[in-house]
Amino acid sequence: MNKSITILTYHTIEPEDSNRIYEGEKFYNITPAMFREQMLYLKENGYTTITIDKFINSATDNDLANKPILLTFDDGHISHYETVLPILKEFGFTAAFFLVVNDIEKKYRVNWKQSKTLKDSGMDIGSHGMNHKILNGSSYFNLVSELKSSKIILGDTLRMNIRAFSITRGVYSKKISTVARGMGYMLVFTSFTGNTSIDSDPYCIKRIVMLKNYSMKDFISIVHKDPVFMIKKRLEQFAKNGIQKTIGVRNYDRIKNAIFSS
Ligand SMILES: [Zn+2]
Repeated sequence: MNKSITILTYHTIEPEDSNRIYEGEKFYNITPAMFREQMLYLKENGYTTITIDKFINSATDNDLANKPILLTFDDGHISHYETVLPILKEFGFTAAFFLVVNDIEKKYRVNWKQSKTLKDSGMDIGSHGMNHKILNGSSYFNLVSELKSSKIILGDTLRMNIRAFSITRGVYSKKISTVARGMGYMLVFTSFTGNTSIDSDPYCIKRIVMLKNYSMKDFISIVHKDPVFMIKKRLEQFAKNGIQKTIGVRNYDRIKNAIFSS
């Protein structure tokens, strides 16, 4: 069996004219109306949202839902509590919320009470670090501090075991995963684009980051695991990561043409 799970990453869920989103967040913002439409699509088309527990057990779990999907929310934006939670409840869905410890209680972010309500409503809580720093290239000491302190503080305050870490700013390194494993995390979520199958590395989980300009048609392509859409997304990610600079424009074009002509 090679059942794959689509994991979506959301950031802010705010109206387009919201003044509660920072410049760098606008690119990822999904309006509440669009988010609701997406959830309605999942509901009407028989998708089941799965929990972190279910995901961890998916390798051995034979009754994993037929159309499993894992919804993740990074950064602890206030809209996760105010807008997302009521919509998820309406559809009977669950999601995982990755919180930045030192951002909790800050402007436009959830506070501890709201984080507790998310947890008590059956939502998963994971760590997104202490400070939302780029961890790639961090010293071992810094990595331990970001991963271990956030796990302990979130776990103690919310009275739960924090088992999942979402890599901050999407910059992955093997060292982060190694430290996370040592700290007792069971899953590390990245911003690498793709679907995750049950035999994927649990310390380097791919997701699909939702973007402001995605239409419903794009959303449907994503949840249907449309391979052409995925290839396009991966190419965009290559470009974003500066691979083009590394391998040269000519090689980049050659690879791109080879993929699209096949
Ligand atoms: Zn983040």
